[in-house]
Amino acid sequence: MSSDNFIINKSPLNNQVLGEYKIPDDSEIKSAFLKARKAQDIWSKTSLNKRGRALKSLRQTIAADIDNLVNLITKDSGKTKLEALMADIYPSLELIKYYEKRINKFLAPEKRTTPLTAPGNTAYVEYQPLGVIAVISPWNYPFQLAINPAITALAAGNAVILKPSEVTPTVGQYVGDIINSIEDIPDGLMQIIHGYGETGAKIIESGPDKIFFTGSVETGKKIMEAASHKLIPVELELGGKDPMIVFNDANLIRAAKAAAYGGFANTGQLCVSVERLYVQEDVAEEFIELIKTEAGKIRFTMDPASGDIGPFTHPGQKEKVEDQINEALDSEAEILYDGRKNDQPGPVIIGNVNHEMEIVQEETFGPVIPIMKFKDTDEAVALANDSDYGLNSSIWTKDIDKAKRVASSLETGNCMINDLIKNVGNPDLPFGGTKNSGIGRYHGPEGLRSFTNQKSIMINKSKKNKEINWFPYNEKTYKGLKDFLDINFGAGFEIGKIPGLISFMAKFFRGGDN
Ligand code: NAD
Repeated sequence: MSSDNFIINKSPLNNQVLGEYKIPDDSEIKSAFLKARKAQDIWSKTSLNKRGRALKSLRQTIAADIDNLVNLITKDSGKTKLEALMADIYPSLELIKYYEKRINKFLAPEKRTTPLTAPGNTAYVEYQPLGVIAVISPWNYPFQLAINPAITALAAGNAVILKPSEVTPTVGQYVGDIINSIEDIPDGLMQIIHGYGETGAKIIESGPDKIFFTGSVETGKKIMEAASHKLIPVELELGGKDPMIVFNDANLIRAAKAAAYGGFANTGQLCVSVERLYVQEDVAEEFIELIKTEAGKIRFTMDPASGDIGPFTHPGQKEKVEDQINEALDSEAEILYDGRKNDQPGPVIIGNVNHEMEIVQEETFGPVIPIMKFKDTDEAVALANDSDYGLNSSIWTKDIDKAKRVASSLETGNCMINDLIKNVGNPDLPFGGTKNSGIGRYHGPEGLRSFTNQKSIMINKSKKNKEINWFPYNEKTYKGLKDFLDINFGAGFEIGKIPGLISFMAKFFRGGDN
């Protein structure tokens, strides 16, 4: 794949060379940052309306180029056309439209209250850009996972240096090119730096003002450690081991179809795929038969225009998945369904698994579902929470009250009831993980503001010569403040406190003793 300082990108479908991408040297990375800082200075002064218009223009430009983009994504990743359109492009269009319409609401200065001890003061929060944001992205949804953080950072007034995955640089380059095709984007505001992990590390050493990383837990930890040397804020969107909990009162046909989609879509290379399935014991046999039937309908393809799942995008993925399956089989696990044929990936369902096995504990990132049974709600919650990960989760039952109680008990950043995955594409919901699944949230107002310095400003009109809390300190002020605190936060109002309080308040408004 690499030729010294170039990445030669080949399609997993047919080895066709899709492009050669230069890996910049240290001085080129340095100049990229200098250029980004200059462009960001210009961009930070543009109005929110103008930024909103640029987002709209970007959305329309992408929408007009969908066939070409689908073609690029399928060639670069091996996924099918519908997967590219539905799960890689559509969520980004939703997010861009969401922010383009709400940029003023989310980023305009916001009035806040002041405490009683600051009479006449006013307060507000300004959402200012941070500077240059490093976005480091993975290969599984090469468009969405690069462009979503990039446009959010840009909307907040920042410059972006994006290092796409070395596995899918062609789509990464497209993200840079399409953003740069928008008229109002200053030269240097959006730059692509291609390379491997080493280049990602150099980008961090160059001192971005924030790092937005999507990828594995292992790399996330390295990034956080490197960022700590310069106290660079990090957002980490990492792996998942999402539980799907199927109760005996669920619509089992719907749940089985959902499990097949959630576990096998994109050949399982999805951070929010169904990685553990828990089914209530009295319906387990029936449910297993249903999901086996659904798995049997999934068609592997090397032609993105037909079929349901394609090859692994990353060449190393097959071995990782096979190792986990074999480790489980070496214990007492058994294969309930095996759709692998001729060395190609296919759906695999595994039973008789337990929480000691890697296939239940570690992210698989392949089309494999381990199934376990549970007795009651408490056991389902305990099993689902017995994981180092906490990204997404799903609960299947017709009893919505029960589902909501279970949702509240799950140690995950996100949860869906009677559906799955779709919540990631809801732009109004903050998305992110707990535990090893990451730090921070994107999407929603929280996501946009996470790319800003949330600067608080408090104003005193400067009518008094001094404030009561300034020097000199004395016993009278101490007593008055104590009564004030007692009335406000403690025992409440008492007649005896009036004289002290009057003298305290008088001093307060006057500014205290000289
Ligand atoms: P990865 O961690 O191997 O690589 C991700 C990116 O980090 C790549 O661009 C890589 O070049 C770069 N990188 C590697 N080492 C680096 C270093 N030391 N410093 C800086 N950058 C470095 O992940 P991957 O294999 O590309 O992606 C798959 C992983 O991503 C899975 O674990 C998946 O669950 C996760 N993921 C998470 C989400 C989410 O939203 N939480 C979404 C998609 C994928």
